[in-house]
Amino acid sequence: MHEMSLAKSMYEIVEETARKNNARKVKSVQFELGALSHAEPDALSFAFEVVAHGTIAEGARFEIIRIPGKAWCVPCGRTVDLPRLGAPCPECGGHQLAVTQGDEMRIASIEII
Ligand SMILES: [Zn+2]
Repeated sequence: MHEMSLAKSMYEIVEETARKNNARKVKSVQFELGALSHAEPDALSFAFEVVAHGTIAEGARFEIIRIPGKAWCVPCGRTVDLPRLGAPCPECGGHQLAVTQGDEMRIASIEII
């Protein structure tokens, strides 16, 4: 399960940050997830809860910020919306697209106490 390994690597960052800051508890974690990344938000939230169980991050509020997909279309010469990877340009129907936004999978902020 892809989300589980993602949650694990994410948890390592959370734990390291908490340890460096002598935190007693992780209160919340905000995570940026691009629409073009291959992770399901619900599955990721669940996986993080499982990974955090019995740790400093147990019970932390886990928020996912969805980042919409965008790509640069070469024929159009501008940035267009891209709902998913492999989709054509909504303006010209072409596939000469370079993803500029939406493949994010990163921790935006961690709140500790
Ligand atoms: Zn186009």
